[in-house]
Amino acid sequence: MQKATAIIAAGGAGLRMGTSTPKQFSELLGVPILIHTIRAFRQVPAITAIIVVAPAQHRALTCALLARYQLADHCTVISGGKLRQDSVRIGLALVPEDSPLVAVHDGARPLIDPADIQRCLEAAADKGAAILGVPVKDTLKTVAADTTIRHTVERESLWQAQTPQVVQTDLLKKAFARADQDSFVGTDEAALLEHGGWPVMMVEGSETNLKITRPDDLRMAEAILMQKQPARQMRIGHGFDAHRLVPGRPLILGGLEIPHVLGLLGHSDADVLSHALCDAILGACGEGDIGRHFPDSDQRYKGISSIKLLAQVIGLAAARHLRLVNADITVVAEQPKLAPHFPAMRKIIAEACLVEPAAINLKASTTEKMGYTGREEGISAHAVVLLTG
Ligand code: MG
Repeated sequence: MQKATAIIAAGGAGLRMGTSTPKQFSELLGVPILIHTIRAFRQVPAITAIIVVAPAQHRALTCALLARYQLADHCTVISGGKLRQDSVRIGLALVPEDSPLVAVHDGARPLIDPADIQRCLEAAADKGAAILGVPVKDTLKTVAADTTIRHTVERESLWQAQTPQVVQTDLLKKAFARADQDSFVGTDEAALLEHGGWPVMMVEGSETNLKITRPDDLRMAEAILMQKQPARQMRIGHGFDAHRLVPGRPLILGGLEIPHVLGLLGHSDADVLSHALCDAILGACGEGDIGRHFPDSDQRYKGISSIKLLAQVIGLAAARHLRLVNADITVVAEQPKLAPHFPAMRKIIAEACLVEPAAINLKASTTEKMGYTGREEGISAHAVVLLTG
């Protein structure tokens, strides 16, 4: 099979979703739409490069997201242009020399079946250009501005165009050159080829290859995805940690510095709460403990914010297709009073864990002056988490 480069067009503003960030960042069963889309292309062996075209103002967010899901090494992220055609043109210029095929795909079509991508690639390798689509099944009407039906459209030969749209790289470059020369603007790549008179094959795809444009589409996509997914795995994890209290160190719990006469001693910032939570998540992943991933002997972790470690642990879970459902955390400390700091801590932890603050429950307990916590020699924390696939 010829090698192909995927250009994922994720440059749209997605204003119809009613969200502040574009639709490709909205979540589908807890995972951003764009991540679902990229994962589908990663499953096709012939796709050897992926170029993600992001809105310029969200390029950094896109890079961070790819890093979080351990996809950064497999993708090049670039800033898009004003129109889809501009974005694809920018992506096309970066297609590697050794890639005879280009597959352009909407970032907002996360349910694409890798087998359908493969069929499109084969058809384009054979015929020059092929796109995925479905025959129109509803009766179509043209309607006047006053909502009166004018007439019924003959639907016999009508198809809805989807993506991917796969074209031999040289041919797509020629089609762009022709369109630019004629100032022709098309809403998809096939339109540019049609404009230049090059044939494009239609490959029958699936109705489930939805383009997520409105909130309703998101709900429909979730229902389809739930059907497709094997039984969702649930994983439970538990973490415990304790650190010694000493003078001359800041007290950091849940990423927040809390005014106190003593602080916790440790190689990192000694955030005992975050450590217990990291251990619980690693436990649920079957990945040992925090010491194995971030050893004390490694100078990179000296004084590091444990919230950064927590974000890395969540990334490790995400790479295993697991995400946090909820966490229940108890901090055992005689002093200081922690409850007033919980709202701020919850926010910091939730952000690192990619969940809403409501998913993070924080509790504080003393030991009625008994034991090492009672004597204020140290603080300990317990965490229980549930992860799901
Ligand atoms: Mg620790």
